[in-house]
Amino acid sequence: MSKVPFVTKAQVEEIAKTYPTPFHIYDEKGIRENAARLKEAFSWNKGYKEFFAVKATPNPFLIDILRDYGCGCDCSSLTELMLSEAMGVTGENIMFSSNDTPAEEFAYAAKLGATINLDDITHIEFLEDILGRLPETMSCRYNPGGVFKISNSIMDNPGDAKYGFTTEQMFEGFRMLKEKGVKHFGIHAFLASNTVTNEYYPMLAKEMFELAVRLEKETGADIRFINLSGGIGVPYLPDQAENDILAIGEGVRKVFEEVLVPAGMGDVAIYTELGRFMMAPYGHLVTQAIHEKHTHKEYIGCDACAVNLMRPAMYGAYHHITVLGKEDLPCDCKYDVTGSLCENNDKFAIDRMLPRIDMGDYLVIHDTGAHGFAMGYNYNGKLKSAELLLKENGEVQLIRRAETPKDYFATFDCFDIYKKFDFQE
Ligand SMILES: *Cc1c(COP(=O)(O)O)cnc(C)c1O
Repeated sequence: MSKVPFVTKAQVEEIAKTYPTPFHIYDEKGIRENAARLKEAFSWNKGYKEFFAVKATPNPFLIDILRDYGCGCDCSSLTELMLSEAMGVTGENIMFSSNDTPAEEFAYAAKLGATINLDDITHIEFLEDILGRLPETMSCRYNPGGVFKISNSIMDNPGDAKYGFTTEQMFEGFRMLKEKGVKHFGIHAFLASNTVTNEYYPMLAKEMFELAVRLEKETGADIRFINLSGGIGVPYLPDQAENDILAIGEGVRKVFEEVLVPAGMGDVAIYTELGRFMMAPYGHLVTQAIHEKHTHKEYIGCDACAVNLMRPAMYGAYHHITVLGKEDLPCDCKYDVTGSLCENNDKFAIDRMLPRIDMGDYLVIHDTGAHGFAMGYNYNGKLKSAELLLKENGEVQLIRRAETPKDYFATFDCFDIYKKFDFQE
């Protein structure tokens, strides 16, 4: 399978006249079709709701598209809560799934009426101290420990993850919450990240559903929802098969009917907090080749850097690259594709076979729609790029302007030295 960009060379040449590279661009049509498929996949569950993981792509224009499909927001910080509030997403439309949470963030989440998903048993009293009285509905995040396996392969390592309550703590926590007057309950778990298999959610669901049945039986808690969180992945590699969300929804339905329905819990709502699955494939980082360097290796230097996309530097993550206009040429040149940071891990690709790249060529870096722009930072004083939306009607809309030096220096504005800067750009 080959990865085909959702923009052509001609389109990018036109866009770059107004919005110089590098930029992130998102595909409205792709986002909509995918969100509609997800909704359909879980339509069998009456209370189903996706809370988009805001951290993946915290852009109100994009989140607004998802709202057309009934999505709420999964927030984990003060500013994510503020963004949701500003968009009019409040109350039960916010899931606050945070960890190591500062007191003011809990207070703010409670003020918005968000559903609070506790990461730890000690947070019960911490939250009670802040609020005086706990909300009527509370959720707890579960971490069974050990490794999460599908067949014989290890998917992830919850035993090594900082998140969640142990099994024992789930029971103890539910009893404590009930004693403190909490009426309705939810459970949450995120046990494996970027899974490219249709089996993850059904397996996770089975574990969660069985836990929910035991919790309800042994503590008498009224469990209203089970939050399967994020973790459904996307195929970053061109030869990976993508997840079939309809099959995943069907797999969850099957275990729902096997485990929850016979236990009299057929009215429990399924929640998800997908980030990557909702956005990653529908974003490109578009950059231009500005230097070629022939030393111990062949290098292509582009005008984007790890500030625009950190995943390769941070995780050694693979992001496919298409050289626009050269889609049909043989990949007979081996390159390291780099950015300009004074960091040798600032490489979008290492030893990648690509068509011969000429200066001025536009490169599309694929699957940057989630955990892409959002992870950006300002190392080397590099500025964050613009974000653009390719609308369904073919128009391009600026949905976040590029940073300017003035933005970079803004946190000096309370000092006299700030007056020396001249921002007449
Ligand atoms: C990051 C995160 C998500 C989203 O994860 P994806 O892998 O992007 O789907 C959901 N919930 C929580 C609590 C998270 O931290």
